[in-house]
Amino acid sequence: MIAVSTQSNQTKLQDCTVSAPTALPAWQTALAQAITDPAELIAVLGLDPALLPAAKAAAKLFPLKVPRGFVARMEYGNPHDPLLRQILPLGLESLETQGFAADPVGDMASRIAPGVLHKYHGRALLIATGACGVHCRYCFRRHFPYGEETASSQHWQPALSAIQNDTSIRELILSGGDPLSLNDRRLRELSEGLTHIPHLKRLRIHTRQPIVLPERIDAGLLQWLDSVTLQKVMVLHVNHPNELSKEVIDACHALTQHGVRLLNQSVLLKGVNDSDQVLIDLSEALFDAGIQPYYLHLLDRVQGAAHFEVTEITAQTLMRALLKKLPGFLVPKLVREVPGHTSKTPVAF
Ligand SMILES: *Cc1c(COP(=O)(O)O)cnc(C)c1O
Ligand code: SF4
Repeated sequence: MIAVSTQSNQTKLQDCTVSAPTALPAWQTALAQAITDPAELIAVLGLDPALLPAAKAAAKLFPLKVPRGFVARMEYGNPHDPLLRQILPLGLESLETQGFAADPVGDMASRIAPGVLHKYHGRALLIATGACGVHCRYCFRRHFPYGEETASSQHWQPALSAIQNDTSIRELILSGGDPLSLNDRRLRELSEGLTHIPHLKRLRIHTRQPIVLPERIDAGLLQWLDSVTLQKVMVLHVNHPNELSKEVIDACHALTQHGVRLLNQSVLLKGVNDSDQVLIDLSEALFDAGIQPYYLHLLDRVQGAAHFEVTEITAQTLMRALLKKLPGFLVPKLVREVPGHTSKTPVAF
């Protein structure tokens, strides 16, 4: 549905002369209209204004940002809504908790070029941009020094050279920030550079944009995907079945139809999805949308996110419940990230 309506806009734009003012794609307008003021979020959802001072203070550490379409999937008047909990700044974020650090996964130690991380065999990860469509309060990169460290600056050249020079790299992962907050022109600039690297087989995109801003999956993006000759994998980030609106499901179908394999990673979050029924419903809903559950991550211990942590024992109990009730292919792998390890670390249960 989204793809079709945007397609007609695109066609009109392309018919215009070069000098005509270019209208922003609908997704960029929607992104620019995202809610960033805690007072507005609280008013729109009819929440208790007493939440405001803490929200304002926490938003100074890591700003509030949430697209209106995502807010529309939250329940009015419910401060415990599982989607709201992911994005509402809370006073608890300013607590210093022992064991919670600014760079919990040791990202900076694996840097091979500006914005390029090479931690695992055969895979290089690009911090494509610092921008995201949404700010998740538990984000492990909430303290990442994006200013100096994005691969899209300098037209991708240092990143492309680093990948070109290491023939063991089979897969390029676009991460961030959210790589789909880059516009189609910049994505094309990158993918054209990649065509000259013969050892590369797959392009993987780690993105939450199709979930929080399904408008992003428009005709222009689908055209770009069609132009990419590498195998295409998208790892989405959905934590709760309520995130999968009709628009999101339509966007996922469009991606699948354009040859993109869809996987999902979730983070196990207290008060969001730390319940066997929610996780079972999530796996079922993902599969309905053509998305394969991939990882369930234990929280990365980033400063300001301690109140989201679910203990390993609880996680293991949840996993046993999933295993009992779901087909094996709908049970995500429970993992944690341990600095210095050569892969994500499976957690036995
Ligand atoms: C998570 C991650 C990957 C991808 O790991 P997979 O297990 O293949 O999903 C690659 N590089 C870095 C730096 C990562 O953090
Ligand atoms: S979308 Fe991903 S990178 Fe962006 S804030 Fe959320 S968790 Fe962090």
